[in-house]
Amino acid sequence: MVNRTSTAMTDATATPLQRSCGACTMCCKVYDVPPIDNKPRGQWCKHCKPGRGCGIWETRPQFCRDFHCHWIYDLSFGEEWKPERSKLVMNYRPNENAFVVMVDPGAPGAWLREPYHSSLRALAGRLAQQRHALEIVINHDTTVITPTRDFPVGSKADALEFKWAERNTPSGPTYELIGVIVKTLRLA
Ligand code: SF4
Ligand code: SF4
Repeated sequence: MVNRTSTAMTDATATPLQRSCGACTMCCKVYDVPPIDNKPRGQWCKHCKPGRGCGIWETRPQFCRDFHCHWIYDLSFGEEWKPERSKLVMNYRPNENAFVVMVDPGAPGAWLREPYHSSLRALAGRLAQQRHALEIVINHDTTVITPTRDFPVGSKADALEFKWAERNTPSGPTYELIGVIVKTLRLA
């Protein structure tokens, strides 16, 4: 189950950093940043100099220091996936069975452009074999995608539960996402 209430940005990929951010600042827009006056996702942080970097780099919060997007870790994604160019910030959370793609709300159709769209569909199919789901998130609006269909989740989910179909094949079991259950927290 994926906890939707967490604001954690941490990419759980336990591999060394492979790249540096350069002039990219896309994560400073697409995420909530609680230590900076509860900056909401979708708005630039007040300290961000888009295209140049963080204006308080030396004293930025630990919350910001701890984050690196998946593009920084995974060289299998080419330069075209750099967030400032793709407008997509990838975050792999295997412990939550999820690979989350935050889309710049200023370019909400970015994930539908090529080469991104077909690559994301194919990635969803590969992730499914580990029973991990691929989520496309625009501000709080979430859609879980598979190679062939979309599961619109909306913006009210506190947690998601994924339903998988297992099929036996000569080379072993394969998995397909067949449903997403939306959980919302209710106050007593
Ligand atoms: S989105 Fe990724 S590449 Fe861009 S600034 Fe953040 S961590 Fe660096
Ligand atoms: S403090 Fe700096 S690193 Fe953190 S969100 Fe703002 S601009 Fe980005």
